[in-house]
Amino acid sequence: MSLNRVIMLADCQSFYASVEKAEHPEYHDRPLVVAGDPERRSGIILAACPIAKSFGVTTAERLGDSLAKCPDLVIIRPRMQLYIDISMRITNIYQSYTDLVEPYSIDEQFLDVTGSLHLYGTPEELAHHIQTHIQSELGIYTRFGIAENKILAKTACDNFAKKNESGIFVLTKDRLHETLWTLPVAKMFMVGSRMTRHFNAMGMETIGKVAETPLEKLKQLMRRKFGKNSDINAELYWRIANGLDDSPVTPGTHSVAPKAIGHMMTLPRDYGKLEEIKVVLLELTELVCQRCRGKGYMGHVVSVGCMGADYDHPTGFNRQMKMDDPTNVTNQVYRAAVELLLRHWDGYPVRKVGVSLSQFSSDDEYQLSLFDPHRDKTMALERATDAIKQKYGDAIILRAVSITPAGQALHRSEKIGGHYK
Ligand SMILES: [Mg+2]
Repeated sequence: MSLNRVIMLADCQSFYASVEKAEHPEYHDRPLVVAGDPERRSGIILAACPIAKSFGVTTAERLGDSLAKCPDLVIIRPRMQLYIDISMRITNIYQSYTDLVEPYSIDEQFLDVTGSLHLYGTPEELAHHIQTHIQSELGIYTRFGIAENKILAKTACDNFAKKNESGIFVLTKDRLHETLWTLPVAKMFMVGSRMTRHFNAMGMETIGKVAETPLEKLKQLMRRKFGKNSDINAELYWRIANGLDDSPVTPGTHSVAPKAIGHMMTLPRDYGKLEEIKVVLLELTELVCQRCRGKGYMGHVVSVGCMGADYDHPTGFNRQMKMDDPTNVTNQVYRAAVELLLRHWDGYPVRKVGVSLSQFSSDDEYQLSLFDPHRDKTMALERATDAIKQKYGDAIILRAVSITPAGQALHRSEKIGGHYK
């Protein structure tokens, strides 16, 4: 069966570690890791090369644990700017094959090669060609999941291409029952450990079981657990399980990393109470974090600005602080934003509020904080919420505070570019 569209998800193997190995040929045959804080044994492994992995070293574990398994480990401090630069060079190489290239994270990019495929032969031949190109130019090994849409391409890469000798796997719709559908539901796109437990409790152990459940039945089952608002989630999961996805490959999403991502809001009246300002602060933080998550960035510095209504007699403040770790988790950024507000607000009424994040790194490889074991789950949950909002509009999921009189999110989402829909 041929593909309607030919979408590739190209992934770089052990990206940070591979970049460092290419930069340090003397370590070619050595086990190498990139670790958050090489001076401390409590530092976290951000990436491990395949040799290190063969000793049992894994991403996100503590350096001390890795050294216990592999005392000869070469440990390198992360160089984010270098990784971003190499990621852009890889984008440039992909762009020499198609203009439809969408970076998904620092080491994964979608390519729509439907229009250029005829110049190169079969999808596998083209993938192999690009793979060789990247390897010879940058010394990095890439793997390719190929399918007719993005979700299937991603699934093909993560579950099949990475385990393949060739690093290339084509997932066609007519073979879903012997590929995608055999996988445990935990391997499903957008499904984390919490949803896995729910699906298992509903008797669905594999992705195939979700796919074969009639949509109306799945909605009923999910309503029993999550209430009547869960219909859209049911449909989303059902579509993913059935390999349905119409989203286009959108070029240039983060080809140039911005310096900061921020949102500013002018309020309908003066806000004089701390609690009211905090509501708006949370809504703005949510918007900023949502955009960062969409682009795969984590910010290290949060800025908050508050201004009074009388611009001739300015009141308010504009201050920033560095958080302990880079993050795009709404609650973590919000905590820091509130701290800034409490520290610097002069108590005068506020008419304009702004929040921004800067000093970005990628959220792809782990930057786990040891003090927050739930962060991984939080990030997965927020990604899922973002996807639903993107599809159905921001107002589909609101925080409870947004329904209070101070909230602006519902009002805002009914407007586009300052105009009502
Ligand atoms: Mg990778």
